Amino acid sequence: MNRRELQNEITAFVRTYPETRHTATRWQDPLVAFAAADDPLFLQLKEVVSPTHALPGDFIADAQTVIAFFIPFVREINFSNVGDPYSSEAWARAYIETNRLIRDLNGYIQERLRQCGYESSNLPATHNFDEKTLVSDWSHKHVGYIAGLGNFGLHQMLITNRGCSGRLGSIVTNLKVEPTPRPDREYCLYRKNGSCGRCIRQCPNRALTVEGFDRHRCYERCLDNARRYERLGLADVCGKCLAHVPCAFANPVKHEGSEHEMV
Ligand code: SF4
Ligand code: SF4
Repeated sequence: MNRRELQNEITAFVRTYPETRHTATRWQDPLVAFAAADDPLFLQLKEVVSPTHALPGDFIADAQTVIAFFIPFVREINFSNVGDPYSSEAWARAYIETNRLIRDLNGYIQERLRQCGYESSNLPATHNFDEKTLVSDWSHKHVGYIAGLGNFGLHQMLITNRGCSGRLGSIVTNLKVEPTPRPDREYCLYRKNGSCGRCIRQCPNRALTVEGFDRHRCYERCLDNARRYERLGLADVCGKCLAHVPCAFANPVKHEGSEHEMV
C-alpha cells in the first residue's frame, strides 16, 4: 500500500462512517500526513511532553512510519459550542462519537495493512494519560506536528490547514512511506503578530492565559461537562477555546507558498 492509497482509505472510511454507524456527528474530509519513525523530534518529546513519552519503536519494533490524521467536525458542531460556559450537547456527542470513529478507523487500517503484510498499532484517541499529571505518553497533537499536519496555537492545540475544530489520531506502522514536509511557519495570529487572543478570552475557567496553560484547571471544566453528559458516555471535554475562533476551520495566517501535499 502506498501513501496515496492510505490517504484514500482513511478519507473513504471517514466519509462513509456516519452512514455505516448511524452517528449524529458529521465530519469533513480528514487531513493525513506521515512522519519517519526515526525522526529525531520523537526523542525530543521525552523532554517537551514527558520523560515517559513513547517512541514509535515502543509500539512496533521495526517501525518505519507514523501516520497522523486530523478529522474536522462540520462547522455546525463548532458553532453549537459558542456561548454558554458549558459544552453543547452536540460538542460532547461529537467527542464521544469521534473517539469511536478513531478506534474503528485504526482497526480498519490495521487490518488493511495486515492484508498487505505490514503491522500497525491501534492507539486510542484519548484517555491514555496519567491521571495525576494529566500528561499523555503518546501525544497525538505533538505527533501531528512532527508529521507536518500544522503548528501550535496559543490555545495549545494543533492548527492545521483545516483548522483545529476536530480530533487527531495516529498510527505507527512498519510500512515505509515518504514523510510529509513540516511547516516552518506560524498558524496562530497571536504567535504571528500578537493579535487575536480570542481563545484566551473564551476560556471559562481561566485555564488558558498568555503565560501558559493550567491543565488541571482545564480538566476541572472537562469533568464538569462529563458529569453533565454522563448519559451519552464519557465526554470530558470543553472546547470553548475553539468555538468560532479564527483558527477553527482554517489556518488564519495567510502565507505565500504552496500547501503541503495532504488530503
Ligand atoms: S484563537 Fe487566535 S490566538 Fe487563539 S490559537 Fe487561534 S489564532 Fe491563535
Ligand atoms: S478546553 Fe475549556 S477550560 Fe480548557 S483551555 Fe480550552 S476553554 Fe479553557
